[in-house]
Amino acid sequence: MKPGRQARPPARQALIIFGPPGAGKGTQAELLSKRFFFFHVDTGRSIERILYAPGAENDPVLVRERKKFESGELCTPSWVLSIMRDRVMRLALADVSVVFSGYPREEFQAFGDGKEQGLLDLLAAEYGKERMTVIQLLVPSEESMKRNSTRLICSVCGLPVMGVGSSDPIQVACNFCGGKLMQRSLDNPEDIRARLEVYKKQTFPLIERMRAYGIAVHEVNGVGAPYEIHETLVKLLELA
Ligand SMILES: [Zn+2]
Repeated sequence: MKPGRQARPPARQALIIFGPPGAGKGTQAELLSKRFFFFHVDTGRSIERILYAPGAENDPVLVRERKKFESGELCTPSWVLSIMRDRVMRLALADVSVVFSGYPREEFQAFGDGKEQGLLDLLAAEYGKERMTVIQLLVPSEESMKRNSTRLICSVCGLPVMGVGSSDPIQVACNFCGGKLMQRSLDNPEDIRARLEVYKKQTFPLIERMRAYGIAVHEVNGVGAPYEIHETLVKLLELA
């Protein structure tokens, strides 16, 4: 394939990438969206777009969620789930393949609660279980810790730069926009450890449940250069 040219997957599919913090989920989702027409559903960005859309200040629900968002609190889970479902409906209607990189993260988001439809039931209805794939990126905890603590992000465009410690300023400016690089406030050792624990306790058990639900689950080694892991995914998903 010529570089810079997007290829549409042969049939639309839904992909969910799991992995501990720093496993490279977002990077892999971006690579698939850049080369193969996948739509990368970024939960944070979707939420932000809705909360700051024109007219949002007239909607009491959005005003409530915006307050939470700005104070660093979690937005209401059922509200976030409804946004994700809305995204999936629109994308399925447009016949687009989707990739999720940080959602679902816990049981309610994936399976709902009887009252609220979870993301998996909706994806199964819209895409079909046989067109759903779960990728589990395997990265040891120490590697996950190391990656998170040596990651800088661009203060302007948000592009991550891996392998640069804040005390080791090899690179000071973003390769894309020249913006100043900074460390995310979330990437301190205590927060990273807490996020790893949450992953083990709440997210990891979902993988078995998804297998039981009838979705293909593939374990992929997440240690290595992102492009190599990308090639593994391309083969696995039979994209090229
Ligand atoms: Zn930048």
